[in-house]
Parts: sequence; structure tokens; C-alpha cells
Amino acid sequence: MKTARLQTPRRPGKKPSNNRPKDPVGVYCRVRPLTAGDDACCVEVISNTTIQLHPPDGIKVNRNGEFKEMQYSFKEVFGAYTTQKELFNVVAQPLVEDLIHGKNGLLFTYGVTGSGKTHTMTGSPGDGGLLPRCLDMIFCSIGPFQAKRYIFKPDDKNAMEVQNEVDALLERQKRDCQPTATPKAMSSRQRMDPEFADMITVPEHCKAEGVDEDSVYSLFVSYVEIYNNYLYDLLEEVSQDPIKPKAPQSKNLREDSNHNMYVSGCTEVEVKSTEEAFEVFWKGQKKRRIANTTLNRESSRSHSVFIIKLAQAPLDADGDNVLQAKDQTTVSQLSLVDLAGSERTTRTRAEGSRLREAGNINQSLMTLRTCIEVLRENQMYGTNKMVPYRDSKLTHLFKNYFDGEGKVRMIVCVNPKADDYEETLLVMRFAEMTQEVEIARPIDRPICGFTPGRRYRNQAFKEELTRKLELRGGPIDGDLTFTELFLQSFAPLPSVEITDASDEHTLPRLIECLEQRQRARHLATEEVKKSVNALRGMLQDWDSNFSVKENYIQDQTEKMIEKDRIINGQKSEADRLEKKIRTLEYKIEILQKTANIYEDDKRTLQHELDERDQKLHREVSDKRRLEQRMHGVVTDTKMKWEKECERRVQAKQLEMQNKLWVKDEKLKQLKAIVAETRTERPEKPERIPRARDQKVHVRSASPPAVPNAPPVRLRHRRSRSAGGERWVDHKPIGNVEIDTVLQPHIPNAITVAVPNEKALAKCDKYILTHQELASDGEIQTKLIKGEVFKTRGGGQCVQFTDVEKLKQESPVGPRKRRSSPIAPPRDDTTESEWTDVETRCSVAVEMKAGSNFGPGYQHHAQPKRRKP
Ligand code: ADP
Ligand code: MG
Repeated sequence: MKTARLQTPRRPGKKPSNNRPKDPVGVYCRVRPLTAGDDACCVEVISNTTIQLHPPDGIKVNRNGEFKEMQYSFKEVFGAYTTQKELFNVVAQPLVEDLIHGKNGLLFTYGVTGSGKTHTMTGSPGDGGLLPRCLDMIFCSIGPFQAKRYIFKPDDKNAMEVQNEVDALLERQKRDCQPTATPKAMSSRQRMDPEFADMITVPEHCKAEGVDEDSVYSLFVSYVEIYNNYLYDLLEEVSQDPIKPKAPQSKNLREDSNHNMYVSGCTEVEVKSTEEAFEVFWKGQKKRRIANTTLNRESSRSHSVFIIKLAQAPLDADGDNVLQAKDQTTVSQLSLVDLAGSERTTRTRAEGSRLREAGNINQSLMTLRTCIEVLRENQMYGTNKMVPYRDSKLTHLFKNYFDGEGKVRMIVCVNPKADDYEETLLVMRFAEMTQEVEIARPIDRPICGFTPGRRYRNQAFKEELTRKLELRGGPIDGDLTFTELFLQSFAPLPSVEITDASDEHTLPRLIECLEQRQRARHLATEEVKKSVNALRGMLQDWDSNFSVKENYIQDQTEKMIEKDRIINGQKSEADRLEKKIRTLEYKIEILQKTANIYEDDKRTLQHELDERDQKLHREVSDKRRLEQRMHGVVTDTKMKWEKECERRVQAKQLEMQNKLWVKDEKLKQLKAIVAETRTERPEKPERIPRARDQKVHVRSASPPAVPNAPPVRLRHRRSRSAGGERWVDHKPIGNVEIDTVLQPHIPNAITVAVPNEKALAKCDKYILTHQELASDGEIQTKLIKGEVFKTRGGGQCVQFTDVEKLKQESPVGPRKRRSSPIAPPRDDTTESEWTDVETRCSVAVEMKAGSNFGPGYQHHAQPKRRKP
């Protein structure tokens, strides 16, 4: 027997939830009525979306002790007098509609213990909650389209298999034989547990819109409890020892192939009516209560999860059987969660092991809170923080919902009594935060390609057939073969009632009709035989064709294998060669690199060589230049020294000659005196040639020496009266005493070897006696005159105004400036040398106050260019 194992196509294509439109988590608030004992109320319903919390007396809201009236808004607020029906219509009905249309939903109640969570979810006696109402609505909607039991069969991997009719029938029969089987569909309310009978009596039934009538449905329920972060299956059948009860085995969470979380090994009961489903729920509820009593647990500390799973598959094209197509089966689920009380541990006054449990419970709710916080943060700030779903079983189980696998709704239950104020405040904050989380809208299930309305057409056809069969007296029930149908299409048999013995018409008519039928049957049989033969022939033809083709395929396959082998061989050869190429390439690369390195080295060395070459060249040329310069300097120095030596020799000669001349003169005078005394008249002509022979240098203008008389008249060159001027007579120490006759005599002058400011300040005229070697080798004395001015800077400055030259010259030959007997007379002197004085006057000496320099020449203008 064949079964088609189908996976839940909950996420076709695994579309990223980011691109889908998003809806915020729907958060509703239900305020329960105050119990008789409580009279202080801290919650006020302001509008159908807002409540206000009034801090009771003695509670300080702010640190500074101020009271703060806080308002909280929700999608909708339900006051104390809201009926279960009203709540259901708003909150749960859309989730049931989604479920029927193949989408998932999660509904949980949140609040402190005693706030009405269980009352809201399950209901109280006589007042069924959301759970029985959901079940009722589902069955009302899918009732006529329910699949036969065991057509859908859950596997242990959260997927749903579709079995064929026969397999389903066999399983049904097997179940009927077992005495302790899951409850059969209840036919009447009388058989229901009176404990909950009145909880599922829903006066007004509700039905979903747009139920696909061409699909078959089946509902499965499971009920789990999360206690102390352990998962327990409340529907598990375990044989319990009444004396020593075993602790229940916890279950694990797994992820299916579509990444949906499920409780592994959890019992899933197929239910066919509200009563049956609620009975299953109640059984779980009882088990929970027993466990709480026997294991001393506190029921308010556990989370209960009731999972309604709806499997649906379309009918085939005929509208007769369930389509066993993998991609067409949908499983949607609605999880109804009654959370544990949200109050903090301290408030429960739990002790010992209970305290630990309480801590864990709170841990689950804490994780839920953290997850919501992270989700909200990620959405608000675009971050990608990991949501810690795995930190608790509760959040891990519902991870897919928050990831966009379905609608999420929360009912915040509030007990308005003042004692609960602080806890209610925390509940409100959590609720407010949850509302900010957005969940991607679940995607619509794929549309099946068959013609709509096939179920009714098929039903109509069957009804019509039955009617016709009834008309012809044929079988009403049972399966009809094609031949039977064919035969039934003949004209009906005539009436066979024989009332008269002499009736000769009825039997022959019947015989004729039967013969006719026999003939027709014969004909049809022949026809069928022919068809069968033709078909057989065709099949044989096909068969032979097939075997030929098979042989051909075999042939081709062999060839292909051969070619494959060759290709493989070539491939391995190619691989080998490729490897070799790679190795060679690698070697080439290395060699290339080495060559490059050498090339670089060569370039560097060449460069270095060139540089050194250039340097050498430079050094050689420098050396040559230096040599030339040194040579020039040596020659210059040599010449200078030669001149100097010559000058000194001449100066000495001159001095000696002068002395000689003086002595000679004295001698002559002496002689003359002697002669005078002898002869009274001296011989004059004798003296001149002698003097000439002596070559005494005398000034051209000087008269013969006269004893006791000054040889020259002192000349005052100053234009102004001498009495009115004071002169600074500057005579440098190094000057040679050459006994020039016309030496200037300046009365009242301050004679200095080095001019100083003090002297300059007292005078208004300046004279410098300067000696230098003239070009003809004679010593030339220059009297450089100037006027002293006060400078602006407070110093003194001398403006040269005149130069007087004193020069000794040999009387032999006109204009001969050199009388040295060694040096030959020079005739190449030009007129310009004599007019040099004009140009030299344009120099000035400047001395500033505080100057450390001695007298110096400062050229204020080029010698040849006169200052205007
Ligand atoms: P929880 O599950 O939050 O601990 P329950 O649902 O068990 O609280 O409620 C505690 C009690 O309050 C129950 O007896 C329940 O009948 C009653 N109750 C809660 N909500 C309502 C309501 N809206 N109307 C009337 N009674 C209510
Ligand atoms: Mg409860």
C-alpha cells in the first residue's frame, strides 16, 4: 500500500520576511470584575482603547514621592462586563479564519495570577472561553468537508502524510478493535463529561467565510505544559502506577525541515467534533491537575499550550478523492497559550523547591520579555541583534511566529484590585512594548489549479446516478464497473408479473428483451475482446519497441560509459599536464623574479658607477682649476714681493743718497767756508758737475740749498684763515720719512696716528698723509684733505675734497718719474695717470660714533664716476 508523505508547505520558497508587509502584535486588554471582597480599584477603563491606572494610597510612583496617573492604550480594551463571545469575535475569530485559510496564529493571555487568564482562555463552568469557541467555529466551518479519519496522518517530524482511502479504512478498523483507543466521535452531548459539558454549549455558532469547499480538512490537537522550563505532553498515554506515580517524561523541541519548531514525540489527536476536541483538552487538563497535586506544584507557575493543527488537502480533478500531491497539502496551526502568572517571585511567598520553580517560570517570562525587547530594538533602530529565543522553551517554541510565520495576539488580563497595582504596572509596560513589535504578515497558501466546485459537481453526479439506478431498480450502493454501467444504460426490463396463465405476451416479451440484452452483451463482449486484443497487440508492439529502444539505450549507455572512461582518462591526463604547467609556471615565475632582482642590482651598480665617474671628473676639473688659481696666486705674490723688495731697496737707496747728499752738502759748505777763508771767492762752476755726478734728487723747483735758511717756503693751502679752522692731521705710523721739503705745516692741528672720534669732533678739517708706491717705483706722498661733518647718527664723517700729491723725481729728463739707476726709464706713461687726482677725490671716509674700526676708505662712488 502506498502512502504519499507530504511535508507541510508552510513556507513556500522561504521568502524573507523583510519584504513582506508587517503588522504590529495585536495587544488587547481585558479587565475582570472585582471580586466581592475587594473594594479598592486601581484600574479605570477610559475608552474602548485606553485604561488608566490609579496608584492606591500609600504607593509612591516616583522617587520624589509624587503620584502619577498613567494611561495605557491598546488595540482594544474590554471592560468587566465584556462577554466571552464579544472577546472571541474581536480577538480569536480572525485567527480561526486565518487558520482555515492556511495561516498560523498565536494567542496568549498574559497577566498576574487571578487576573482571568484561564477564565479568558478556557472559560468557567457555564461560560466557555476562547478555546472551546475556537474549536466550535472550526468545526462549524469545516464540518461538511472533513476528511475521513486517518486520511491525514501526522508523522513524527511535524509533517502530515496523506493516506489513501484503503489504508485509512484499515487503520480505522484496527482502532475500532482496540478497547482503550482514543475516544470515538461522540454522537450526543449526553455522553460528555458533565464537568465541562456546559462550557462548550455555544448558543450562537460562528462560521468562517470563504472556506474552500473543494478541499478536505482534518483537525489535530495537542496539549503541552511548560513547567520549570521542561516540556510535558499532557495527552501522552502512560500506564500509571496508582501507588507510586512516575514523574512525567519531558519532551524536546526540534526544528522540522521548514525550520518550524515543534515538540518532538508529542501526541497529536485527530478530532472530528468540538466535543471530542474539548474532551481531549479536558483530559489533559485533568492530568495537569493530578500532576500538580501529586508533585506538589503550583498550577499558576506553568504555561499551558493548546495546539490546534488543521490539515487540508484539495480534492482531485474529479472532486472525488483527496489529492495526494506533496505541494498541495497545507498544515496551519493555532496555538492558544495560557501563560503563568507574571508576578515576581517575592510576591508568591514561595519557599524551597517552589521558589526555584518560581524563579524558572519567571525566567521564561523574562526571556519572552527580552525577546520582545530585542525584536523591538532591531525593528526600531535597524540593528541585527540576535533574539534569544533559545534561552527558554517557551520562546523557542514560538520563535517562528515572531519570525513572520503567523499572526500574534496577546490578551493582557488585569485584575483591577489595588493589591495588584505594582504588578499590573509591570504588565502594562510589557504590553506597551509588545505593541511596538511588528510581525511580517503571513503569506497566502498556493492556489490549487483545479476547477472550483468539483466537490458539488461530483456529489450531484453521484446523486443523479443513484437516482437513475433507483429508477431502473439496479443497485443503489456499491461500486459500479464500467460494464455494469454500460448494461444499465439499456432499456429497462418489461414487467414480468404474470397474472393470467394464458398470458402469452409477457414471457416472450421478456425472452425477447433478455435475448436482446444477451446479444448486446455478446456484442459488447466481442467488442471488448477485440479491444483487448487490439490493446494487447498494441502493448506487444510497444513492448517490442520498448525492448528495441532499451537495447539501443543499453548500447548508447555502454558507449557513453566507454566515452566517459576516455574522458576521465583524458581528464586525468589534462589534470596531470595542468599540474605540470602550474609547476613550470611557478618555476618561471621564480626565475623571472630572480632575473628582475639581478636586473635591478645591475641597474643600481651601473648608476653608482656613473655617479662615481662624474664625481671623479668633477674632482679632476676642480683640481685643475685650483692648480691654475694657485699658479696665478703664486705668480701674483711673487711679482708683488719682487716689487716690494725693489721698492724697499730703492727707498733705502734714496735714504742713503739723501744722507749722502746732506753730508756732501755739509762737506761742500764746509769746503766753501774753508775756501772762503782761503780765497774769499769760491769757485762755483766746480760744484755743479759734482752735484750732477752725485745724482742727487732735488726738486725741480727747489733753489740751491742755502745754509741757515729754510729750503722751502711753507705753503698754507687752506683758503680760509688758518686761525678759524682746526685740522686733524692724520699721519699713519708706517709712513717713510723722505724729507720732502714742501711738507705741510698746519698750526693748531691735532696730530693723530689713528683718527678717533674725539679728535674729529673737535675739528672741521681733516688731512691724511698717505704714502704709496707709484708706478715708476718712486714713493709718492698724497695729502688727502677733507671736511668733517656731523652725521645724523651722532658720529663724524669726512668728505674728501682735495688730494695733494708730493713726489720726488730725478731732475734728469723732463717728466721722468723714476730716477732709479737700475730701472730703465719708462716712456709709456700717459696723461691719464697725471689727472688721476680728480677721480680720487670722490672718495670719502666715514666714521660713526662707537665704531671700532680704524680709518678706512669707504668708496661712496666708483672712482671714475664723480658724485653729482
Ligand atoms: P488566572 O488564570 O489569571 O490565574 P483565573 O482565570 O483562574 O485567573 O481567574 C480567577 C478567578 O476569577 C476565577 O474564579 C474566574 O472565574 C474569575 N474570573 C476571572 N476573570 C473573570 C471575568 N472576566 N468575569 C468573571 N469572573 C472572572
Ligand atoms: Mg490560570
